[in-house]
Amino acid sequence: MQFLSEYLKTQDSISKELIQLQETVLDSVATSMWQYNQTQLQTLSAGLVKMPIIEGVDIFDKQGQSLISKRVYAANSQPMSVFETQSELNWQLNGERIFLGTLVLYSSSEVVLDRVLFGFSLIGLTEFIKLSLLFWLFIWAFDRYMAKPLKELMSQVDKVQLNQNVSQRINLSNIENNELSLLQKHMNEMLAAIQSDRQKLLEDEQSKRNWLEEAVAKRTEELQVLNKKLENMASTDSLTGVLNRGRFFETAQRLLALGQRQKTPTCLVLMDLDNFKSINDTFGHFSGDKVLIHFTETIQTFLRKSDLVGRLGGEEFGIFLNDTNSDDAFMLANKIRKAIANASLEVDGKTITYTVSLGVEASEPEEASIDDMFKRADVKLFGAKDKGRNRVEV
Ligand code: GH3
Ligand code: MG
Ligand code: MG
Repeated sequence: MQFLSEYLKTQDSISKELIQLQETVLDSVATSMWQYNQTQLQTLSAGLVKMPIIEGVDIFDKQGQSLISKRVYAANSQPMSVFETQSELNWQLNGERIFLGTLVLYSSSEVVLDRVLFGFSLIGLTEFIKLSLLFWLFIWAFDRYMAKPLKELMSQVDKVQLNQNVSQRINLSNIENNELSLLQKHMNEMLAAIQSDRQKLLEDEQSKRNWLEEAVAKRTEELQVLNKKLENMASTDSLTGVLNRGRFFETAQRLLALGQRQKTPTCLVLMDLDNFKSINDTFGHFSGDKVLIHFTETIQTFLRKSDLVGRLGGEEFGIFLNDTNSDDAFMLANKIRKAIANASLEVDGKTITYTVSLGVEASEPEEASIDDMFKRADVKLFGAKDKGRNRVEV
């Protein structure tokens, strides 16, 4: 439909152009005819058929006889339709108009079609240029407002992921107020939420760790106290607080070896309360215990820090003295004997006095075993008992 209307419009316009052309050349053709100048007529018509809209030229004389007839196309390839414009050729002489002949100019449907097609291709070309421009504009805008910011967004997200650093924020360099800025805002809010959650978790973990450390420290302290108690219980006599038999001999053995290595004399003093059975019988077992406590407290006032005291059995005690010869040991033993003999203690309103027998034994130059020393000291103690008690035997 559009093609048809374009065709008719173009045909109309070409007809007008034909008329204009005719008007332009009319005078020249009339002059050439008036002067019977055939060459000039030929040249004019040759020039006319060269015009792109002209398919043929006819010039007739006043009798209608053809003077010139030219066609652009060959006789066997005539155009579909041909249309023409006719115009009279006149000559003005002394104000009189003399009729000379007729000029006919032809154009054809091909000329019209060529122009219509040219017009359409021109429209197509401009449309193509417009579309190309639009396409590149779209590509540019897409790249500028979508592709580039998206790429940057992905690289920043990758960075956050790689560094595991949620305190970082997405900050796109070129961002308009569009969906991307909204996305950036949401992602940053998400990062902030993750950051605060992580902070909370860390704080929780820290407080739990602190609590655990405190609990462990408290429990360790309790265990240390308990251990000390257990160790004490395992090494001391619960009634008197001095070393028990096992720990006394164990430590005395070590001190004996040390004394041997340092070539210093050591002594073992064995003590056994005299007639303790009768104290128990007379005053009771409880009072007997008090006597045992009184005895250990009394002897410790005569001892150095480095001396070892132990309860070896019922009412039998031992002292291991390092860096002490037998004379000094005897003097100490005698001091103890006298102090005990002169002491008295009040239990339940009753006064108790008691005595102790002591056996003193010095180490031999090559003494290796505390057991041997003990056996010899025991013999001395037995001697003291035998000789009437409340004695020191060296
Ligand atoms: P000796 O002078 O020959 O040593 O006579 P002794 O009576 O002291 O000796 P004996 O071995 O006959 O008696 C020791 C007594 O000590 C017998 C026992 O009941 C008493 N005894 C042992 N351990 C304890 C104790 O822990 N507390 C009390 N109260 N008595 C004890
Ligand atoms: Mg005894
Ligand atoms: Mg006794």
